[in-house]
Amino acid sequence: MFEITVEESFAAGHALRGYRGKCENVHGHNYKVEVTLEGEQLDETGLLVDFVELKRWLRNVIERLDHRMLNEIPPFDRVNPTAENMARYFYEEISRALQESAGRDRVRVARVRIWETDTTTATYRP
Ligand SMILES: [Zn+2]
Repeated sequence: MFEITVEESFAAGHALRGYRGKCENVHGHNYKVEVTLEGEQLDETGLLVDFVELKRWLRNVIERLDHRMLNEIPPFDRVNPTAENMARYFYEEISRALQESAGRDRVRVARVRIWETDTTTATYRP
């Protein structure tokens, strides 16, 4: 089994609904996102997926969120913008991009990890 991983970071604001504590107030984080793809077969070049392509998919998702108030952006206008829900959102969006690529029959998203701070992460995997 092969895995490839890329990471990117972005900044965004949020406020958690229904949460009692500091995170119910509007505040921001410098998020880090790590996406890992997995598959057993490489393409004819010897790649699982080109890092350049995976980074482009990831940046396309980040572009919607960077320097924004997450609570105002779907699906986080309905779904609480916790690190857990953000990890699932990135998983779904990267999976969608992967489904439109040449590697869709060999490759899947293994997991997405979100760092909300240097010491706190949430991971989503199917
Ligand atoms: Zn927070």
